Amino acid sequence: MTSSKTIKDFKKEFPSLKEKVLLKDHTTWRIGGPAKYFLEVQNKNDLEKAIGLVKEINLPFFVLGGGSNILVSEKGFNGLVIKIKFLDFETKEEGGKIKVLVGAGLPLNLLSVKLLENKASGMEWSSSIPGTLGGAVFGNAGAFGPSMADSVEWVEVFEIKNKKFQFKKYQNKECQFAYRSSIFKKKAPAIIIISVLLSLIKGSAEAIEAKMKECADYRMARHPLNFPSAGSVFKNHSKAIKNKSLLLQFPDLAGFNKKGDIPAGWLIANSGLTGKKIGNAQISEKHSNFFVNLGNAKAKDIRALIKFAQKKVKKVFGVELKEEIIYLG
Ligand SMILES: Cc1cc2nc3c(=O)[nH]c(=O)nc-3n(C[C@H](O)[C@H](O)[C@H](O)COP(=O)(O)OP(=O)(O)OC[C@H]3O[C@@H](n4cnc5c(N)ncnc54)[C@H](O)[C@@H]3O)c2cc1C
Repeated sequence: MTSSKTIKDFKKEFPSLKEKVLLKDHTTWRIGGPAKYFLEVQNKNDLEKAIGLVKEINLPFFVLGGGSNILVSEKGFNGLVIKIKFLDFETKEEGGKIKVLVGAGLPLNLLSVKLLENKASGMEWSSSIPGTLGGAVFGNAGAFGPSMADSVEWVEVFEIKNKKFQFKKYQNKECQFAYRSSIFKKKAPAIIIISVLLSLIKGSAEAIEAKMKECADYRMARHPLNFPSAGSVFKNHSKAIKNKSLLLQFPDLAGFNKKGDIPAGWLIANSGLTGKKIGNAQISEKHSNFFVNLGNAKAKDIRALIKFAQKKVKKVFGVELKEEIIYLG
């Protein structure tokens, strides 16, 4: 049976629906063509209505947070981009913990300011990551050791199964958090994150602020923050490199092998690729896992650079680098 609903019905229901929105204006890479349709969603009712219509019209959709982990093609996206704008923030003390209910659309930098005001400690590592909480849970974002998995108690989601939907809670264990992964990523785009309950501890404002500053200073010193990027392009490599001549040639490898984590940036740098340019895309001279947009770089240039780095690292180290970023279009 075909549905009688059309995009006209969608526009009637959502007068705020925009058309031909350039996604380069919604990504930290400042790259990407138009979304055919673009809608900001601020509450559960609207999300349910929007997904219901999208399914009836048979329109592809993409869930957008802060756009800080995606590479959008010049063609853009021939469907509906749903920008998540749930911005709730509520705290309560329970069992010696501070429980914080946060909307998935809240940017991490704003979240950390609010957590500091409430003397809630545990998420300082995320304070200068330019994404939303929903995006961070999706990819189990992390830095300096901890990741989202350490602070999430449960995640409230809107789950889509064929044409059926339900609001549901995933407890931490059910989220299948792993290094830069979660069930939400594995099943994308079928699970939309709405809100998250964080379980944090009481800290002193001075200590929280000092930790946030330490993280920001570290990033400022090591990351190319003066150019648009999406942070780390590749995941670190989690298997040991046992090749004897490589171990002799690169003494650092023994230490990485012991930790079970070889930084992708180190592999790229030691493959001689730091500073490599294709078009206006460059493997940063400051951090080799950051691929920067020097000005009007194209998605195809970044993609070519990604392929080039994968090929070279494979040749030098026998390692297959896997992307951390998500492709759209
Ligand atoms: C300068 C810089 C530094 C960075 N440093 C770090 C770092 O230290 N550690 C780290 O882990 N990452 C880092 N990143 C990468 C990025 O900021 C994080 O991965 C961030 O959590 C992505 O969130 P986002 O809202 O921007 O997601 P987006 O880029 O908007 O989306 C990423 C993916 O998440 C999905 N998604 C987003 N929101 C939702 C939702 N509500 N429900 C379901 N799916 C959703 C999208 O569909 C997409 O597939 C950095 C990026 C930059 C630019």
